Amino acid sequence: METFDTVIIGGGASGLMLYKLLCGNNVIIEAGERVGKKLLATGNGKCNLSNVSLSADKYNAPDFVKPVIDKFGFDWIVETFKKIGVLTKTVDGRLYPYSECASTVLNALRRGVNACVGYTATEIKKDKNGYIVYMQGNCQKHVFCKNVVLASGSKASFGIDSVNLFCAMGHTAKPFKPSLCPIKVLPTEIKGLGGVRAKAVLKCGEIEEKGELMFKDGGIVSGIAAFNVASYIARGVYPDLSIDFMPEYTISDVEKLSIEPDGIFHARLSELIRQRAVGKSIGETIKNFKLTCLGLCDMNSAQVASGGLSLSEFDVDLQSRLHKGMYAIGEALDVDGICGGYNLSWAWASAGKVAQKINFDRRL
Ligand SMILES: Cc1cc2nc3c(=O)[nH]c(=O)nc-3n(C[C@H](O)[C@H](O)[C@H](O)COP(=O)(O)OP(=O)(O)OC[C@H]3O[C@@H](n4cnc5c(N)ncnc54)[C@H](O)[C@@H]3O)c2cc1C
Repeated sequence: METFDTVIIGGGASGLMLYKLLCGNNVIIEAGERVGKKLLATGNGKCNLSNVSLSADKYNAPDFVKPVIDKFGFDWIVETFKKIGVLTKTVDGRLYPYSECASTVLNALRRGVNACVGYTATEIKKDKNGYIVYMQGNCQKHVFCKNVVLASGSKASFGIDSVNLFCAMGHTAKPFKPSLCPIKVLPTEIKGLGGVRAKAVLKCGEIEEKGELMFKDGGIVSGIAAFNVASYIARGVYPDLSIDFMPEYTISDVEKLSIEPDGIFHARLSELIRQRAVGKSIGETIKNFKLTCLGLCDMNSAQVASGGLSLSEFDVDLQSRLHKGMYAIGEALDVDGICGGYNLSWAWASAGKVAQKINFDRRL
């Protein structure tokens, strides 16, 4: 029977990073046909690794995240990628590999990794010396280990929900819900806008997100600003939406311009603005374009999910308070951040924290 110091369940961003940082004899169990598949799609194929503005307030659980990213923050991420052979650069505050190719990051992370690919971890059992992890692939196998780390991510974008492996050991979890994803609005309110893009401010109650909005047929608003607003809607913020299509101008500035909307916006957007300016001025319609939120799109169109293992059941080292030697990292924990490299930052930082603890314990 094979025995390892640490078994990592999931060969995505957090699991691969943890493997690179750990000492000892370790293995990754990965359900997919290869490790790190999702990484290749990140940042539109460029992989937005982190952000100079990395801070705890970018996440749903700032108190839990803070001690981790205080130690394993932006500078640590830059240094760590340098150590594994990836030069990075910052563009508008966002950290990317210098190549702007996600494959550069994945190639560096998977180099030398011992992975059991095509096997899904199905059960964890406690053993007198640690844990037995059962897995199913071409055949059934099991391995022994001292530590087991759940790095299985979330259900977002065709991911697998494996938090049940820890729930079967007494842990609790919040169900995964789409977080960074397009928003569904009343189709008639954006009729004809399919394919149109606009730089604007999307408002949801007190929250304002500036960025590019993309409209899709059937009443779907996408783009970074929409994704960030969606992450608040996923946390239960009242969805009273409006768009400011000219954030640099006040209503009276817009009125004073004396330029028709078709000289300012895409033809289909200007037509819709005219149609919706009934009983109010064009300026008011441009600055306060109301939308009725019908909810969020499904999990497969989400980049990140909210939900996951309950944080109160993990200590500052991300070790289970119920079982010594069991850890969780990345999106498997109930941590999600806004767009801009914050979710990968959490994957790297949480891996850094657990590696530090396991490597320290090994030396004792
Ligand atoms: C299209 C897209 C673009 C994105 N772009 C960015 C970006 O630019 N910047 C950013 O910060 N974030 C981005 N994200 C989010 C980011 O990719 C995730 O937050 C991050 O990958 C989470 O890392 P993770 O290790 O927790 O999970 P994942 O990377 O999802 O890895 C989990 C792995 O575990 C495996 N697994 C699950 N269950 C089992 C099991 N039982 N047995 C074996 N293996 C299992 C899965 O197959 C998967 O490979 C993007 C996401 C998507 C979908």
